[in-house]
Amino acid sequence: MPYNDNKPILKYKRPSKLQISMIRDDQAGMCGICRQPLSKDSRYVVVDHCHDTNWIRGLLCISCKTGLGMFKDKIWLLKQAIEYLEHANPKHPSQQGRSKVGKYHTYR
Ligand SMILES: [Zn+2]
Repeated sequence: MPYNDNKPILKYKRPSKLQISMIRDDQAGMCGICRQPLSKDSRYVVVDHCHDTNWIRGLLCISCKTGLGMFKDKIWLLKQAIEYLEHANPKHPSQQGRSKVGKYHTYR
């Protein structure tokens, strides 16, 4: 069995259609990040999972999954990106419509 840091590498097992349907219901049919409706076409929905534990984190749209991948699933890197955007240009139109995060969310 291959090992990585003395930890066995577990093979990721794709969940069943029923499991995916249950996760979709848990997320009210929305992407776990952007909260936009997930496509009914499964080719455009990604089962996101932790590569270390193989735990399923949720269902994401392609854009959000790609975004996580570009940041290598690193929370600290994503936080730095948020901080960078908030401080780089808080009145930029792309900052409109944000909710819950950031001190500039009241900008209109
Ligand atoms: Zn999304």
